[in-house]
Amino acid sequence: MEDRSFDIGPIRPPSEADSLLLQITSGCTWNKCRFCTVYRGQQFHIIKPDQIKHNIDNMAYFRDLIYSCAGDDGVVDREKLIPHLEKMNGSELQCFYMVYNWLGNGGRNVFLQDGNSIALMPEKLADVLSYLREKFPSVRRITTYGRAETLSRYSVEQLEMLKKSGLDRIHTGFESGSDNILKMINKGLTQEQQIMAGKKTMEAGIELSVYFMPGIGGERYSRENSEQTAYVVNQIKPDFVRIRTFVLPLESEMHDMMLSGEFTECTDIEKLHEIRDMISDITAPDVNIVSDHITNLVGSINGSIGRDKDFLLEQADQVLGLPAIEQRTYQLARRHGIVENYAQFLQIPADRRRQISDRAEEYDSDELFENHLNEILRMYI
Ligand code: SF4
Repeated sequence: MEDRSFDIGPIRPPSEADSLLLQITSGCTWNKCRFCTVYRGQQFHIIKPDQIKHNIDNMAYFRDLIYSCAGDDGVVDREKLIPHLEKMNGSELQCFYMVYNWLGNGGRNVFLQDGNSIALMPEKLADVLSYLREKFPSVRRITTYGRAETLSRYSVEQLEMLKKSGLDRIHTGFESGSDNILKMINKGLTQEQQIMAGKKTMEAGIELSVYFMPGIGGERYSRENSEQTAYVVNQIKPDFVRIRTFVLPLESEMHDMMLSGEFTECTDIEKLHEIRDMISDITAPDVNIVSDHITNLVGSINGSIGRDKDFLLEQADQVLGLPAIEQRTYQLARRHGIVENYAQFLQIPADRRRQISDRAEEYDSDELFENHLNEILRMYI
């Protein structure tokens, strides 16, 4: 019997939690960023377009199977489904449930994996996108990760072709707009390439989501990180700037740099200052700031520069302006997943807040406190 499983990669952005995952490439074309361990030791390869189409066929097979077991009201009859499930192997079951859950969540979006799916040449990727749209005509949005260095090499016409074939949004990890930082972290990318990639993508009509990492430049480049990132954002005017607060992975090259004294980590609060400073320096009104990751100290920094800038700054200032022990209490509450922002912090019952405050006072030094926060944060990356 034909195996109906399909390839599934390891990561996707949080905003694609409800998306169907279609793997186009495996690993990362660059794989040399000093802070990144996601694809360490893994060879990059592009999945052959025929194989990708075969995977799309298998996704469509599962979708049709699910529909065939649904009544007129759209509710799936488990009794009808079970004989089919009993014939599936482990991989097929995993793939089946991805399609099942995707349909259950509305079946709207598809995310192309892995780290740099646009490494598949635009002509071939456009063909795959058209096939996907043909097999899944109800899909509303198709999104991918794409390295800015790769994007910068494509023409606006090539990117327009991808847009016409159905690619709606690209997520790209800028991390920082500073050339000094890009060099230090070995991003294999320059500020000029970022601006070129961003402008071409926007001109082609593809939504652009860029990632900013407060803290990635360490103490040395802290102000430069926010300033230069804001400069790049003002040049490109992307649809979204997504905040990914930097957390130093223990197995990374940057951890070795920290041990040898080449890199000094920013504190949790210094990273929030960078977020505030970057927002303050962005002037492009249509840019949306998104704080959608648990590593961010304030989870409510969400809104557009034109409409919500004062609100965004206020969200950071509420925490930055707290007296020392209250600030620590907030940090602990956030890092332990009790609150997302200052407004929620104020809702914590007084006795519970006192308990957290007592914990916050137990740390004899700032260093011990930061170490504790970092231990928690590393569990999230
Ligand atoms: S480009 Fe992205 S996936 Fe590749 S090594 Fe750098 S951070 Fe990791």
